[in-house]
Amino acid sequence: MSANSIIYGPVPSWRLGRSLGIDLLSTKGKTCSFDCIYCQLGKTVHPLTERREFVSLDKLATELERVKGIAADYATFSGVGEPTLAYNLGEAIELVGSTLRLPVAVLTNSSLMVREDVRHELSLADVVVAKVDAPNEELFRQINQPVVECTLDEIIRAITLFREGYRGKLALQVMFIEANKGCASEMARLAEQFSPDEVQLNTPLRPCAVQPLTPEDIRTIRQAFSGFRNVLTVYESPIPEVAPLNPEETQRRRPREHYQQGEISHGNSNNHTL
Ligand code: SF4
Repeated sequence: MSANSIIYGPVPSWRLGRSLGIDLLSTKGKTCSFDCIYCQLGKTVHPLTERREFVSLDKLATELERVKGIAADYATFSGVGEPTLAYNLGEAIELVGSTLRLPVAVLTNSSLMVREDVRHELSLADVVVAKVDAPNEELFRQINQPVVECTLDEIIRAITLFREGYRGKLALQVMFIEANKGCASEMARLAEQFSPDEVQLNTPLRPCAVQPLTPEDIRTIRQAFSGFRNVLTVYESPIPEVAPLNPEETQRRRPREHYQQGEISHGNSNNHTL
């Protein structure tokens, strides 16, 4: 793979097994519609609310040829920001699926799901991991620091609408930190509205500006989600052993990756890295 590859990993993911990352943004510095206080990628360098092309489908096709036949469980759109900001995401999902013959997943902060075109493109993926971290507008603004002009209510309505028509697997991710630790029951009630196939309870284990919650905290939070059939937590999910094709490109999207130190990490604990 070239030094500027947009494909990285495979990485061991606590929720997607051996996950081959595809970064359709690949910008120098984070490009996002949020600036979450727990983001492992640092501050949002390119605050963006409009979709545009960052990587051409030709470039993606060339890189896909090089990883054909790779052993992975998912090809996952993630990387240095919010993947739905790429306006060719839908075509890219189809290209990846048909070339690699792997199930395709997208990790999204849900903000652009208010757009009909984004919901349509996400519906082409086999798995959509949508995140919501707050049960109210105030906490949403405090934790996610959106640069996009939409309210939490609009995002909630958009995910609900998406769920109604989506036949793939919808996972809801909630990142728990000190600020929303006391909102587990409210978040569980909110989650019911989305009828997710899976709930992923996360806390930021990688270096960032806030401290992660303890395993005991997450166990307590998990109890509030006991009504859901499939609940994963970042502390308890098994992760596979896997070596990345290009450690440098992987490291750029997964800072301070533990495999470089010869240990297996507990997968990514931010929503936008695998
Ligand atoms: S965690 Fe994800 S949504 Fe939040 S700022 Fe970082 S890249 Fe954007």
